[in-house]
Amino acid sequence: MTRRDDILHTAYDALFAAFGPQHWWPGDTPFEVVVGAILTQNTAWSNVERAIANLKRERVLSPRALRDIHPRGLARLIRPSGYFNIKAKRLKDFMRWLFAAHGGSLTRMFRRDLHTLRQQLLAVNGIGPETADSILLYAGQKPIFVVDAYTKRILSRHGLVAADASYDDVQRLFHAALPADVQLYNEFHALLVRLGKDYCQKRQPRCVECPLRAVLPPSRIGVQTSVRPVRLHSQGRR
Ligand code: SF4
Repeated sequence: MTRRDDILHTAYDALFAAFGPQHWWPGDTPFEVVVGAILTQNTAWSNVERAIANLKRERVLSPRALRDIHPRGLARLIRPSGYFNIKAKRLKDFMRWLFAAHGGSLTRMFRRDLHTLRQQLLAVNGIGPETADSILLYAGQKPIFVVDAYTKRILSRHGLVAADASYDDVQRLFHAALPADVQLYNEFHALLVRLGKDYCQKRQPRCVECPLRAVLPPSRIGVQTSVRPVRLHSQGRR
């Protein structure tokens, strides 16, 4: 195990001890998770919830209904999620692909192996790596780590990745350090999002109170955070 691997394990333990289980992804069905993953691009989750509530109220939260609804009607319903015309097109494109490639069935879709399905998803208009991996992990229960801006910011502030590291570089780091465990990937990503939102903000990170202040190497943002790496494995990993 490398030093970086060790740091990521310890960071997970510290975050889980501090925040507890995050119960991701919020959504009643895998299909709702897929729709949420597309709608959450560039917006807060509370806005996505309002958009999904509209889709449920109008009884169009299904592959067939979203394939058949007029794009303008769909854009109106998902307006709270922002960029609603673009997202309506993305949802329509996804549904078209789902029917063409998998007969409109998520069950059939998720029968494909992880690598093949990821390549297929990335070829759909508007589905980038973060959205594809969110769909694969949280809706499909496939062992792939989701990387987002919070993750990159936290790791780069502590010199664990370069500031301009690619999505794939950061993902490789987690895949190399951790066992391919769906529940672990689920929880770790959710915990990093919580940390990014509550402590590691873009401006004025709350380093003094941060649960990782004594776990990560010294920060590169001018605040010396590292006391001495401590092991917290006794807190238990799910
Ligand atoms: S110690 Fe500071 S820079 Fe490091 S993760 Fe916490 S808030 Fe971010």
